[in-house]
Amino acid sequence: MDGLLDPITTSGEFILARNLCSLFFVVLHFALVFWTYRDADRRGAMGWFWALAVLLFPVAGIIVYLVARPPEFLADARERDLEIRAKEVSLQRDLTTCPSCHKPVEKEFLLCPYCMKKLRKPCIECGNPLRLNWGVCPYCKTKQ
Ligand SMILES: [Zn+2]
Ligand SMILES: [Zn+2]
Repeated sequence: MDGLLDPITTSGEFILARNLCSLFFVVLHFALVFWTYRDADRRGAMGWFWALAVLLFPVAGIIVYLVARPPEFLADARERDLEIRAKEVSLQRDLTTCPSCHKPVEKEFLLCPYCMKKLRKPCIECGNPLRLNWGVCPYCKTKQ
């Protein structure tokens, strides 16, 4: 039985196909190592460490990496942080708290809607909301 497959396994086409297959896997392996390095780097993980792990343990390395890698790209995380900070700043700019009941009120409010405390006065000329202690309107320069 041993010699039965010999004509196939020793034929030129078989050896060529086998070599092409191994070449394909070698290329695939290096592509995976390169992909892992770049992906880990973009996620802020140690790129060279994961690339080495995938290089030494192609299957186990890539599985462990896919499980253990940080869930998001560094750039995405940075963008999200910036968005949150921008939102906080805009909230701080538009919102303040009522000095009497400490509930959130908008800076343009003339009156606290919760406790009716007078927060601002309208300009006698242009109607813009002014702080109670302002003697002149900064919008139209009218003395109050
Ligand atoms: Zn209030
Ligand atoms: Zn005014």
